Amino acid sequence: MSYLLKNATLPNGSKTDLAIQDGHFVATSSLVKGHLVIDLAGKQVLPGLVDLHTHLREPGFEESETVATGSLSAVRGGFTAISAMANTSPVADTAGVVEQVYRLGQAAGLCDVFPIGAVTQGLNGQTLSEIGAMADSAARVRVFSDDGKCVFDPLIMRRALEYVKKFDGVIAQHAQEPLLTQDAQMNEGEMSAQLGLKGWPAVAEEAIIARDVLLAEHTKSRLHICHLTTAGGVEIIRWAKARGIQVTAEVTPHHLLLTDDYVKNYDPIFKVNPPLRLESDVLALRAGLADGTIDIVATDHAPHSSESKDCEWSVASFGMVGLETALSIVIKTMVETGAMNYEDVAQRLSITPARIARYENHGQPLEVGSVANLTVVDTAAKWVVDRDLMSTRSKNTPFHGFELPGVVTHTFCNGKLVFGE
Ligand SMILES: [Zn+2]
Repeated sequence: MSYLLKNATLPNGSKTDLAIQDGHFVATSSLVKGHLVIDLAGKQVLPGLVDLHTHLREPGFEESETVATGSLSAVRGGFTAISAMANTSPVADTAGVVEQVYRLGQAAGLCDVFPIGAVTQGLNGQTLSEIGAMADSAARVRVFSDDGKCVFDPLIMRRALEYVKKFDGVIAQHAQEPLLTQDAQMNEGEMSAQLGLKGWPAVAEEAIIARDVLLAEHTKSRLHICHLTTAGGVEIIRWAKARGIQVTAEVTPHHLLLTDDYVKNYDPIFKVNPPLRLESDVLALRAGLADGTIDIVATDHAPHSSESKDCEWSVASFGMVGLETALSIVIKTMVETGAMNYEDVAQRLSITPARIARYENHGQPLEVGSVANLTVVDTAAKWVVDRDLMSTRSKNTPFHGFELPGVVTHTFCNGKLVFGE
């Protein structure tokens, strides 16, 4: 199928017609007859969104999400590439498992699913996994992470950083000092004291970030910090970048909007790892994202069945779904506040994440010759989040009932219309 998209507004604000044929953007004059015409007057187009942090739960936890249901959720949210985290069962720590996830993504046929490989075997934190075999596999893994757990041992972290340099890979760290966060349930502060819940100090995140940027400097390797949540963490990343260290960082949509105030009714929908922090942290994260200290937004889409969320706070699972609300939260917190424009949105949600993970066909300019990965958004429209209407298999969104700006109307992946009509 070929398409002529009329009157599209590009990230820089200019208006144009875009033609898609055989998977690529082509000159409108070279479109063969029989193409579908879609009028995008008033709509914003963006390079297809790229998520570096997605929990798809397959293999092992298919009751919460599968690669197929996660892919559908992704394209509804405007994503054309997602990165499947390794904490499945079995763990994605061998070429066999990453190839399985990669093929499940191809079979779903909606967006590109790129597996992330585990840093250590079974996420045990002690023995390096088959990093080279995963890099050489059909899935060509370039991002490695024990996400859900921190690579705590500094010697293992150093070796992992050294190893991935050979093929231009990157280690994505879930920065959480385990001894400082034992049994932690929420941010450590006034609210945790009031609620009688064990707190999780900001220093537990910042201490690992500080250690790891120094290890990245020492090894001259690439480090990516997952889901930054504290003002102090932003300062460390800013310092490291000024020093020339190859570090990148992500923030989640929920940490750009929500604070630990939401925890006050003990509703586990707001239980997440790392935890919701303070208003001052939220403001520092927004400022860091706006000035580029924080490179990207990543969802940390973490589906959980209702049994593991509809229970007492202390036993509930950590995590929130996020693929279908991410872009709207970014528009609400960053664009509507004047902190970012749509060129910045394209940079933080597509171009830079694709560059960090080396996803070659994503985050490319919307011009003739590029693979047609494209998201169309009606930025003037608003919608009310209804968890029962979402495509993800799990319902654990903290935004149920929120009115949000920005409706994704079409998603094209590799030249194919995968969402919208
Ligand atoms: Zn994590």
